[in-house]
Amino acid sequence: MRISTLLKGEKPTISFEFFPPKTDAGRESLIRAIERLAVISPDFVSVTYGAGGSTRALSFDLCKEIKGHVAGEVMSHLTSMCHTKEDIGEIGDLLWGSGIVNIMALRGDMPKNLEADSVFSDFQYAKDMISFLKSSHDFCLGGACFPEGHKETPDIKVGIEHLRQKIDSGCEFLVTQMFFDNDGYFRFVNAMRDAGINVPVIPGIMPITGFAQLDKFEQQFGVQLPSKLRDMVKSKEGDEDAIEQTGIEWSAQQCRELLDKGAPGIHFYTLNKSASTIRVCVEMGLSGRSAALGLQ
Ligand SMILES: Cc1cc2nc3c(=O)[nH]c(=O)nc-3n(C[C@H](O)[C@H](O)[C@H](O)COP(=O)(O)OP(=O)(O)OC[C@H]3O[C@@H](n4cnc5c(N)ncnc54)[C@H](O)[C@@H]3O)c2cc1C
Repeated sequence: MRISTLLKGEKPTISFEFFPPKTDAGRESLIRAIERLAVISPDFVSVTYGAGGSTRALSFDLCKEIKGHVAGEVMSHLTSMCHTKEDIGEIGDLLWGSGIVNIMALRGDMPKNLEADSVFSDFQYAKDMISFLKSSHDFCLGGACFPEGHKETPDIKVGIEHLRQKIDSGCEFLVTQMFFDNDGYFRFVNAMRDAGINVPVIPGIMPITGFAQLDKFEQQFGVQLPSKLRDMVKSKEGDEDAIEQTGIEWSAQQCRELLDKGAPGIHFYTLNKSASTIRVCVEMGLSGRSAALGLQ
């Protein structure tokens, strides 16, 4: 089923994101995590794609394998960077032929060691690949958005005008970069609605599981951590279990408020692990889903 159709349903969607492991051990551990998460009955799961095609085969193999493990839909990520029209045409045919109709269509981050001309030869922005994919098959295409601003476009209003172009090209829904402060999400969605853009904006949530993530999230992803959360985690330095519990409670509180105030779903960045995501889902009191776990 198309994710755009799922998003028109009465219940908010629950989805999980995985990345393709590079080792057999990582793959086995991921399949176990997927099986455990399957009891939550996700509406869809997604598999990331290494920018430049570094995980091209691994990502598609995993998408196909997951289709046999979860009841929900599978969405493949795809980045345009370093790919020609011919490459994307081939990949699009392969996905369509495998029954994968949902794609998270992205540009990818500019690698430090390459020239912009070689990286963006056929597709400069995600929107360019979106219109190209749409012209070959009737894919359901999602796109990325950044409620706290993107590093190349810190001005939110300018970013929203770029999103308008992405949607006009055929993007049907958006998934946000992870965030820890719901106010920024609601301000962003309101600004989109004020600009006349009405596609669903699914919040991306990642429960904090370790002390080292505090700086990494800010430095690598440009995500702001509220000082209250930072202080809570810092006060538990050295006790990773307590930090994980704080992350679960924070994310559960975020998710409850997001859904209460009308978010169309929650997309969990799982980092290929199941424990925190399952516990957040249970703390959220997802009816039916948590009962299935025997935890209610
Ligand atoms: C939900 C989600 C999933 C992701 N999955 C992956 C993944 O699987 N693999 C991976 O490598 N990366 C992934 N990323 C990271 C993403 O590829 C990078 O953050 C990238 O820098 C932005 O991608 P985009 O698709 O939003 O690009 P674009 O939409 O092309 O935007 C990139 C930048 O260009 C600006 N821009 C857009 N249009 C114009 C225009 N007409 N004129 C001027 N500027 C413009 C935008 O404002 C933005 O600053 C993901 C990010 C998110 C939020």
